Order: sequence, then structure tokens, then C-alpha cells
Amino acid sequence: MGLAGAGPGLVALRTGAVDVAPQSPRARPRLALLADEVAGCRRCVGAGLLAEVHPVWRGRGTSRARLLVVGQAPGASGHLHPKPFTGAAGRTLRQWFAGAGFPEDAIHDGSRVFLTSVTKCFPGPGPGDKGDRMPSPAEVALCRPYLDREFALVRPRVVLVLGRLAATELVGRRPLTDLVGPEQVIERLGRTYPAIVLPHPSGISRWLNDPEHQLRHRQALAGLADLRERFDL
Ligand code: SF4
Repeated sequence: MGLAGAGPGLVALRTGAVDVAPQSPRARPRLALLADEVAGCRRCVGAGLLAEVHPVWRGRGTSRARLLVVGQAPGASGHLHPKPFTGAAGRTLRQWFAGAGFPEDAIHDGSRVFLTSVTKCFPGPGPGDKGDRMPSPAEVALCRPYLDREFALVRPRVVLVLGRLAATELVGRRPLTDLVGPEQVIERLGRTYPAIVLPHPSGISRWLNDPEHQLRHRQALAGLADLRERFDL
């Protein structure tokens, strides 16, 4: 397994199933620069995919974070809250984290968890005002370089994937039922990462109403607990 992009002077550490390189001390300002760049991005407006780009998700966490959490896209009020996942979805996600043995509010400990999303702008409401619209493949493609750079700068030990869109982008186009439960492997920019896939915690989807899916969800949380111990998350 390679360490593409590790850069000179970085020593590779082997930890469990993946190679982990220490993070560059310069990564943090680069994350801030990236956040500024994302905040000024108008690619989707230029391509006629979005009418406006407000609010923009700037990512939250530091380059020391060991767990990268990737959701779908920011919500309508993302610009109002300095912390993402503070509403109902946040409560659910905190419960899931607690179920995997994380301390309370670990999701907002930026030195531990970096929160981001596949696309960085609120995509607008979904059909029938049921939740948010899922960003189109064209939006995902335009936004992909930002997510790539977050991977490169944070270099997480483990990735937590939330929801169908993030699972398709990071793991592959397979039904959520196949992906939630067992540990997955993500390949990104020549590196591999152990990953756990969970449904999106927004509660909009009825996926978790199925008892078989609830079983898979419990298996996924057990897998996340195992990764927490193995990778000192
Ligand atoms: S979704 Fe991504 S690519 Fe599109 S305008 Fe927002 S930041 Fe730019």
C-alpha cells in the first residue's frame, strides 16, 4: 500500500490495516486556506446547477483529527450554527457515537473528529419539501476536489460515511443494505482507509424502520467501536 502524497520527511507508521503518516504541521493553515477557497466558490452557480451558494460548509475540525466524518451536504441553516450537527440529526449522531463508546460530544471535538460533506453548499429542499435535495452527480463532481484536499490534509485514520450519497461517492454505488454493517475500505488518492457506513442521521429516510436494517446498524456501531479502539480515535 502506498503513501502517495505523504511528502518528504514524513515517516510511515503501520497501524492495523492501513498506513498512517504523521500530519504536516503546515496542514492546519492549509485547511484554513481551503475553507476560504470553498467559501468563495461559485462553480455550481457558473454551471447553472445552483441559483446561489449560501450557505457554504467550511468543514470543521483540525488536521490532527483521526476520524473524518463525511455527510451529504450542509443544511439550510448551516450558516447560522458554528457547529454542524446541532439539531435533531446531531442528537441522533451523538447517540450513535455514544453507542460506539465515544465520550459525550466527541463529534464536536475538532482535535478528534473532522466533520465535512460531499458537497459544500446547501442544495435546496427536496421534492415535496421532505428533507434536502440530494446533490446531483454534476455538483458532486465539481465539489470533489475540495473533499480530496480535505482527505489529503487531514489524513484520517478512519472514515465514517453518513448516508447514501456519501456512501456512493466514497465506497461505491451499492445499496445501503450491502454497505451498512461490515467494515469497508475506502480508496482515495492512492491511500486506503478503513470505514464504517451509517444511514444519514437526519431521520428523513425510513431505512432504519426495517428490523434487518436495525441489526446491520448495530453491527456498524460495533464496528465503529472496534475501530475506535484499534486506531485510538
Ligand atoms: S457545491 Fe462545491 S463546487 Fe458547488 S459551488 Fe458549492 S463549494 Fe463550489
